[in-house]
Amino acid sequence: AEGSVAPRRALLKISGEALMGTGQYGVDANTVDRIASDVAAVAQSGVQVCLVVGGGNIFRGLTAAARGMDRAQGDYAGMLATVINALMVQNALEREQVPTRVMSAIHMSSIAEPYIRRRAVRHMEKGRVVIFAAGTGNPFFTTDTAAALRAAEMDCDILLKGTQVDGVYCSDPRKNPDAKRYDHLTYLEVLSRDLNVMDAAAISLARENRLPIVVFNIHEAGAFQRVMRGEGLFTRIE
Ligand code: UDP
Repeated sequence: AEGSVAPRRALLKISGEALMGTGQYGVDANTVDRIASDVAAVAQSGVQVCLVVGGGNIFRGLTAAARGMDRAQGDYAGMLATVINALMVQNALEREQVPTRVMSAIHMSSIAEPYIRRRAVRHMEKGRVVIFAAGTGNPFFTTDTAAALRAAEMDCDILLKGTQVDGVYCSDPRKNPDAKRYDHLTYLEVLSRDLNVMDAAAISLARENRLPIVVFNIHEAGAFQRVMRGEGLFTRIE
């Protein structure tokens, strides 16, 4: 639909919230399995796929800081939460026969490889899905920023953000039934209209690196494959 060439290498950001399914906390096994089967289908179609997994379903530094916790300390706890999610996603992908590697920005050599850029590229060239855990490894950042950073480092053609709705709306469509969905936005429109897509650091990083961002509904089975072919509903930011 976009008339652009099919992506060769893609990064999908999966928020912690996406893994909760209809739950209020933690990981819903059926939801993780469903998302993993979509990731498997895209990987098995020959696209090199890497993932950044969030942690907000378990712990958020900012929320903890609002209740009096030291922000940096809370952020480190949040990064550890992303490692838990990464292991769950890895397990679900392996059940789909997809070879995977978890690479952590915080060294945890017993459970994950340390993040080494060139090694991550090599894994993808060999057809492994690389799951990036622990965000950027730095407090005061988010996994959205980690997704833009890793996508730029991996020289991805596209950064996909799987959300709860099928794109970016002018206001929350779950609260406002008249909310309008955008097909296309520029990076600057997202920033100036303060649209709730990804944080400004992530949008800026994508803009500087001319990395297109595609926002779609991760809960719709098969949507990841369709969006990769330019089909279905999504918002493209470039
Ligand atoms: N976090 C961090 N640095 C990073 C990425 C994440 O400090 O580079 C922490 C931060 O506390 C954040 C938590 O990890 O709240 C979970 O990540 P995030 O909120 O981005 O997850 P998501 O909203 O995608 O579930």
